[in-house]
Amino acid sequence: MSTNGWKVRPQIIRKALSQSHVAPNLDAAARAAFAWPAMRRELLGDGPEDWNIGRLAADRHAAGPRASRAALRWLPREGEARDITFRELRLASNRFANALAGLGLRKGDGLFVLAGRIPELYFGVLGGLKAGLTVTPLFSAFGPEPIRTRVELGRGRVLLTTESLFRRKIAPILPRLPSLRHVVVVAEGGSGGVLPGTRDFAQLMEAASDEFDGAPTASEDRSLLHFTSGTTGTPKGAIHVHGAALTHYATGKFALDLHDDDVFWCTADPGWVTGTSYGIIAPLLHGVTSIIDEADFDAERWYRILEEQAVSVWYTAPTAIRMLMKSGAELARQRRHPRLRFVASVGEPLNPEAVWWGQEVLGLPIHDNWWQTETGGIMIANTAAMDIKPGSMGLPLPGTEALIVRRDADGRVLPVETPDTEGELALRAGWPGMFRGYLDQDERYRKCFAGDLYLSGDLARRDGDGYFWFVGRADDVIKSAGHLIGPFEVESALMEHPAVAEAGVIGKPDPVVGEVVKAFVSLKAGIAADAALRTALLAHARKRLGAAVAPKEIEIVAGLPRTRSGKIMRRLLKARELGLPEGDLSTLEGGA
Ligand code: ATP
Ligand code: MG
Repeated sequence: MSTNGWKVRPQIIRKALSQSHVAPNLDAAARAAFAWPAMRRELLGDGPEDWNIGRLAADRHAAGPRASRAALRWLPREGEARDITFRELRLASNRFANALAGLGLRKGDGLFVLAGRIPELYFGVLGGLKAGLTVTPLFSAFGPEPIRTRVELGRGRVLLTTESLFRRKIAPILPRLPSLRHVVVVAEGGSGGVLPGTRDFAQLMEAASDEFDGAPTASEDRSLLHFTSGTTGTPKGAIHVHGAALTHYATGKFALDLHDDDVFWCTADPGWVTGTSYGIIAPLLHGVTSIIDEADFDAERWYRILEEQAVSVWYTAPTAIRMLMKSGAELARQRRHPRLRFVASVGEPLNPEAVWWGQEVLGLPIHDNWWQTETGGIMIANTAAMDIKPGSMGLPLPGTEALIVRRDADGRVLPVETPDTEGELALRAGWPGMFRGYLDQDERYRKCFAGDLYLSGDLARRDGDGYFWFVGRADDVIKSAGHLIGPFEVESALMEHPAVAEAGVIGKPDPVVGEVVKAFVSLKAGIAADAALRTALLAHARKRLGAAVAPKEIEIVAGLPRTRSGKIMRRLLKARELGLPEGDLSTLEGGA
């Protein structure tokens, strides 16, 4: 399988080889039988219609056989795990909903939650949804300015945060948050009393009833306001509605294959849409236990969690997988995870090397899936029963129609039927989880649609079997000597070298060919960046991709700039290379 250190892999992983003993939820019969009305009945039953995501998620399993099962298993940074049962989650979120109502907050008011992954974050988000507020979880590593702009844009009325975050990040900007009426603070024992100008979370909870009678919520009522990752520019605020619960439910069942007794771990922070749709809502709707790890990424800790918590379904991201790959197979082999049966990834293209790493190191391939903040839930996926073509995002889920489109000379958007043709990835509008607007940017929202097609801004192609392949974001695609080059293809080829940990590829303006391809590459631990390696990488890329597509330049760097949600920021690589303004850096990892 190896020539001069480069690996040559088969094109397909057949599922007959998989180890899973659990019958997948989505087999051919379920795919053929899928219909949204039946899904809706499964989720809502025959009772009065109430789409409230907070109630559906926190209350659906709070009585009956799962009431005393752990809904959340919280792993603090240090110390003992704490289980929060479905019953407790219902009561705690009821209390917070009552506390919000007691503060005079009403349906549609904005609740911002700025906290690390602690139980209060989950009570806050679910309680806020129950009370009908529009909820925005913010990533706790944001600096004061990105927090301020988001709270201001979202006209936040109430903020739930922690004592230390309040001191460091909120107190300095409080005078510049005119829309904010209340700040609720989770005490951490440092203040010796309630901070001036704030409410104490524990006191509010104690004073509130644990029964909450919210008015039924309509499917079109606003639920969450989520900011995008800012990979291509200034983050946009995507508005979601309660009816999205149906997308969360269906995708939890079919894309993540959640089964009754699963232990599920979504590693995303609720500050990003993956961390709410799948880190909070979908597993609760299905009554499975979710692992919540307070700590940041650490390879050894992560392998330990997989083993000790007996995680069965794991949803993570390419950046985390690449970091695990970087940390070496030895570390992985020190741990066992016999219950792990399904692994999925989202957020960035998943290089074939990463799919194979899963197969070889975890004994399971990694299932890539594709979606966006705007789509609210998974749209295209490699599901449990499918054969995997490493490098492909998989097939559209049932109930989702995905197309490849192009504009003709008159600007009309037309579907491309010919297989393997690149074009923009579009979705037929109307799925329940679709965003309903960009905050304060109506024109931008309208431009995302051509008739009833939602245009994703990503370029892809569909092969003869219907599998979708990511090419690149429309903004990142490189035009060179009449070719359209997707950075993903070039990056994946470079990743095949055992020395390469990560690659980011951009186009550099060139007077002759338009743009030339330049690659930035970071190496695995302990590997020296010498001229021989650079030459070997250039030669391999040329052999693998052809001279027209291969990079002309390779720069070896210590690390690549990425968003806090873990995406390579190619726009920043390009701006820095060309000496151009760096643009919005609010989501840059390690930034202010
Ligand atoms: P912004 O819109 O602010 O630039 P963003 O698009 O990165 O940020 P998200 O909504 O978090 O914000 O990310 C969605 C995007 O992530 C997709 O449009 C796509 O470009 C990329 N993406 C997500 N999953 C995949 C995947 N499986 N394969 C390839 N790309 C993916
Ligand atoms: Mg986007």
